[in-house]
Amino acid sequence: MKVLVAVKRVVDYNVKVRVKADNSGVDLANVKMSMNPFCEIAVEEAVRLKEKGVATEIVVVTIGPATAQEQLRTALALGADRAILVESAEELTSLAVAKALKAVVDKEQPQLVILGKQAIDSDNNQTGQMLAALSGYAQGTFASKVEVSGDKVAVTREIDGGLQTVSLNLPAIVTTDLRLNEPRYASLPNIMKAKKKPLEVLTPDALGVSTSSTNKTLKVEAPAARSAGIKVKSVAELVEKLKNEAKVI
Ligand code: AMP
Repeated sequence: MKVLVAVKRVVDYNVKVRVKADNSGVDLANVKMSMNPFCEIAVEEAVRLKEKGVATEIVVVTIGPATAQEQLRTALALGADRAILVESAEELTSLAVAKALKAVVDKEQPQLVILGKQAIDSDNNQTGQMLAALSGYAQGTFASKVEVSGDKVAVTREIDGGLQTVSLNLPAIVTTDLRLNEPRYASLPNIMKAKKKPLEVLTPDALGVSTSSTNKTLKVEAPAARSAGIKVKSVAELVEKLKNEAKVI
């Protein structure tokens, strides 16, 4: 079974993001970039499926700038077999990414496509769902457990009320939640080996997809700074302040 994993290059989760002075976006100059954490979980799940003998090949794909090859090499070091970069320097909407991924799905014909539930830069949480709609594949989103058996995959989903298990016919799309697994670190020998694994570079044009955006970002602002809290000496004082200062009770 071939597994396709979509990974995104994002600002590292430890970095405190800064907004550009002209409010046109987030400042990416000299900022550490990494693989989106939910995509790391997606790669890990694919590698575990290969270790169990369920998956035979893992292909990782990203749509983004040439520098995103770094994250593809990381995925290759973690256990993916080959990588595809669909190179685009544009700012991409989820729909543009989903269209490019659909073209890669058509080309590669994977039985399972694993994505993160969301990218931590824009928190969209929509690419997997859009890809499912475009490809007509079944979807199991927010997965905390994935079990493939025969031509079906059982996906346990984290939902508000608890856990829901759905049975999907393959080919299918799964998006990963936090508790699905704990990603491994790449070992130094595997990082070295990853340098020799195949990495194909394509363009949206070559795939016959338009990545032009229908959205325009008007303004990006940092959240308003929070004012400092105060300590009260008694419950009575708290109630008095809630009543007369905050006027919430
Ligand atoms: P989002 O819908 O943007 O929150 O992203 C959800 C998931 O879609 C990510 O965790 C990735 O698996 C995938 N994805 C989003 N953007 C890209 C991209 N540019 N290239 C590859 N995969 C992506």
